[in-house]
Amino acid sequence: MNSARGRSGQIALLMLLLLTAALLVVLVCFDVFTAVLRKNDTQNAGDAAALAAARWQAASLNLEGELNLLHALALATGETNAVRGINAIQERLAFAGPLAGLAAAQTAARENHAFDDPQGEEILRAHASALRSLADPGAGPGSPDLLYPEPWPGAWREYADMIETVAAGGIAAVPGNTRYFDAAGGHILLERAFYMAVNGRDWCWFFFNAMPLLRGYRSFSDWPPLPEPDESDFSNSEIFGLGIRPAVAPLVMFMDETAAAEFLSAVPPGETIDADALRESGVMTNAAQKWYVYDRAAWGRWEKIDPQGEYRFPAAGRVKPEYDVDGAAAVCRVRADIDPSSPGLPPAKAEWLAAAKPFGYLEEPGGGRRETAVSLGGYVMPAFRAVRLVPVDTARGAEFNTADASWVEHVRRHLRPYMERGPSGLPPAAAGCVWCDALRLWEQAAFREYGLRWLEVNSGTCRRSGGGPGGHGGSAHGH
Ligand SMILES: [Zn+2]
Repeated sequence: MNSARGRSGQIALLMLLLLTAALLVVLVCFDVFTAVLRKNDTQNAGDAAALAAARWQAASLNLEGELNLLHALALATGETNAVRGINAIQERLAFAGPLAGLAAAQTAARENHAFDDPQGEEILRAHASALRSLADPGAGPGSPDLLYPEPWPGAWREYADMIETVAAGGIAAVPGNTRYFDAAGGHILLERAFYMAVNGRDWCWFFFNAMPLLRGYRSFSDWPPLPEPDESDFSNSEIFGLGIRPAVAPLVMFMDETAAAEFLSAVPPGETIDADALRESGVMTNAAQKWYVYDRAAWGRWEKIDPQGEYRFPAAGRVKPEYDVDGAAAVCRVRADIDPSSPGLPPAKAEWLAAAKPFGYLEEPGGGRRETAVSLGGYVMPAFRAVRLVPVDTARGAEFNTADASWVEHVRRHLRPYMERGPSGLPPAAAGCVWCDALRLWEQAAFREYGLRWLEVNSGTCRRSGGGPGGHGGSAHGH
């Protein structure tokens, strides 16, 4: 009796153990299943968000181009009053279009089961309030000392409103190639690669990119001043910017051939053309006009996909001319937490960074394609026909990332005090800043001397790995 009960107890215990094991197997299996699903969702959401944003970039560029043509038409028909209105729309569209893309990216990410990223929302809200203090200097704490010129009166407030409106709906796809007006390169202290090389004691980075700096540096007072932000950047949204700018030029290439033919046919045979009449006809004008053109700093040959170029980005075969163009691109980051239900398994994160870009070409009158949408004197034209996913590293401005709040904070709040008074001038809030850690380390003469001695012996082992100054290494897809 006793032993039978004992045995049945043992069997019960064994059953319990087996059940627990089976349950664990089911849980682990379920966890693997959810993890795969979550990763897949994150990837789809990131791709969809980048494509949605790029589609809005393409649509905005096409509209800017249509408005250029409308502008020419208004001139040809003598409706000069319309021109100011057209220019006003073009100015606002360069901000409203890309931000509509930001909103569309959120919808696309959510449709692919992406979750809201509270940090992403917080960063955008903080940026909107920084923009408000640009409009009203001295307002609020941490107000930047630079007042950027507004493309139109009240622009910064309207722009901040737009960003806040999108953020209020939640941010599931964080924009990943934001060019903040005050963090746009042109100085080694604005290059994240420098800080990463210091923190990682990557002396080879110095060997290839900053040897005179490592040799000649004495103290923080040696740094050249931070560059003034590029004025042409103020014509574009910092998020998903179109890379265009207004250029004042006379009407040269928009002369309407039909109108010109009509005008000429009205001239009696044998008479000379009256120059005044020609000017008044509106067929052509020499008056300076504000046209929207591609910013040459943003739109050019796509060097990063040149197999022979500096970056040697892998490209299979020759790149078609219409695809060999840099310029507007949208990078989006989507994150998801994976919380396993089985005990002992650590929580994980799924993250996906995707980039997409509008592509286009112009059709020549006699058939065939003009190389890229950017030719034709640099005027923005309605030429964008497709958007495609592109490798993240080839996307313009991917090194300025809103997803990295610490970097933006560092550039905005820590850099100027450091440059004025050195590491001891850093604000208390900089205590946990990894970028400031690099500066503290860099200021130590012994640290720099060690690097120089190391390179004397080992520089022969250095191998160039991807990006030069401004490059940021990393994998082609950034994950
Ligand atoms: Zn810092």
